[in-house]
Amino acid sequence: MSAPDESCPKCKADCEEGFLVDYAHADRRRAASWISGAPENGWLGPKTTGRRQIRVKAFRCTACGYLESFAPKVAVPEAVMEAIHRGEKILAIKRFREATGAA
Ligand SMILES: [Zn+2]
Repeated sequence: MSAPDESCPKCKADCEEGFLVDYAHADRRRAASWISGAPENGWLGPKTTGRRQIRVKAFRCTACGYLESFAPKVAVPEAVMEAIHRGEKILAIKRFREATGAA
């Protein structure tokens, strides 16, 4: 299954891209991620270490509000996601460049 085209599968009206937010410690916001495998409780919530993590895209119908969410095939490297989740943006960029070879 791929991301939807720009029409709603229920009513055929236009859809707009967005994302879902998770609220964490102290109401800190972050975009939701899909995590591979079944949830397993850890000290700080479900364990994510060593699992594939993919940022979720959500599409909302502008007419009926129907939502579809997708975890695109492009996976963000775990080291990047960990830095993002810790709020270390510069480290996340560095890890992304290391993982992808981007300049
Ligand atoms: Zn619709």
